[in-house]
Amino acid sequence: MNTEAVLRQAAEFAIAYRAHIATADRTPTQDLQATLRAFDGPLPDAGEDGPQVIEALASAAEPGLRASAGARFFGWVIGASHPVGVAADWLTSAWGQNAGNPVAAPAAAAAEAVAARWLLEVLGLPDAASVGFVTGATVANMVCLAAARGAVLRRAGWDVEANGMFGAPPIDVVIGEEGHATVYSALQFLGLGHARVHKVAADAQGRIIPAAFAGVLAGLSGPSIVILQAGHVSTGAFDPLPALIPLAKAHGAWVHVDGAFGLWARACPARAALAAGAEDADSWATDGHKWLQTPYDSGYAIVRDAEAHARAMTIAASYLPVTAGERDPSHYVPELSRRARGFATWAMLRHLGRQGIADMVARHCRLAQRIATALAAEPGVQVMNKVVLNQIIVRFGADRSTEAGDALTRDTIRRVQDDAVIFAGGARWRGEWVMRLSVISGPMDNAEADRSAAAILAAWRAALAAA
Ligand SMILES: *Cc1c(COP(=O)(O)O)cnc(C)c1O
Repeated sequence: MNTEAVLRQAAEFAIAYRAHIATADRTPTQDLQATLRAFDGPLPDAGEDGPQVIEALASAAEPGLRASAGARFFGWVIGASHPVGVAADWLTSAWGQNAGNPVAAPAAAAAEAVAARWLLEVLGLPDAASVGFVTGATVANMVCLAAARGAVLRRAGWDVEANGMFGAPPIDVVIGEEGHATVYSALQFLGLGHARVHKVAADAQGRIIPAAFAGVLAGLSGPSIVILQAGHVSTGAFDPLPALIPLAKAHGAWVHVDGAFGLWARACPARAALAAGAEDADSWATDGHKWLQTPYDSGYAIVRDAEAHARAMTIAASYLPVTAGERDPSHYVPELSRRARGFATWAMLRHLGRQGIADMVARHCRLAQRIATALAAEPGVQVMNKVVLNQIIVRFGADRSTEAGDALTRDTIRRVQDDAVIFAGGARWRGEWVMRLSVISGPMDNAEADRSAAAILAAWRAALAAA
């Protein structure tokens, strides 16, 4: 096996791919079924040469790759896997470190320790908070809520880490009606149940209504966890944190903030006011693979009470070293063996710097505004949210009945996806279909924004003509 040949070949494929998607209009060029056929075949009996396998992988995969690392991708909330993060990730794989154990991988532990400190600094969170490097905000929410569960039950005289949930005092979980679906899955993993929550009414932007929140809290006594949101996945809106957090704290609740992408507003002076007050919460979930542009997978579980965090996650075994006074990467995440995620985060924070992150967030928000303005100028097209951040929801045929508007909106989305100049998906917002656009791709600029708005309007006009 020629190690050098196979690694160089992968690098060449990667470089060529990035050059291709910088200009390519249509990706993927092949659907899932065709791609399945390209990958398929009998399990080989005899092994194949490395370079031959990598060549086969690239040729099977490339027609089925979505250019989510390119500029004109607006689906879900997906960062653009920045080249510097990718390069750091290549090294991470090549180095083959097991980040679960600081003796097995001292450099991985060191990069995480420093990246953790930088993250707290750039996000303006308490410097004594602990940071777990997890796969994404789903697991970050789960880890933070595990720490919350342990801490509120401990105050009620119950050790949940030792004794589990059977017989424990009940916990009241309070969440806005527009909380993200992954928070509910975290509740479901933790024995808190996705259905036994107190849902608080939200306003037209999806923000918790403070009076409704106070009303729910007033009816509760005993251990409680409040889950707030910084950045709604459709509207980009923030729960009114400065009004809600003090109320929750006065009630003795643990306050968790799901800020998968929105927490990064704190790194941008022009947008920081949106997430002001978040620093008073007890835990925060956010992603690297959204606004920090690290490659997948990368999320951060951040907890003010580092001991509660570690109690919920620590794995103890005789063969695992105990490092008194030093940060043990495995104490803040569910896994033992895992990829050394700190390298890519360290590299991206160092590459962008405080200023680069602030500028990028400001640019994406400005471009979201630019696209929203272009779309809203067209008759029959309505932007359904206040574009305070980087998310836009748009309805086509907004002047028609709900049914007709739904049909026109879905047809516009289908045409946009068929044209493939950009990618945008749909969502239901308050009972109606909308197109959802997330401006979070690193390379996005004015020209790409204008071209994207034009592509959406062309699809809308075609949908209208065909109706
Ligand atoms: C994306 C997102 C999540 C889930 O994050 P993953 O990184 O996909 O696990 C949770 N909450 C919000 C608000 C999100 O936008």
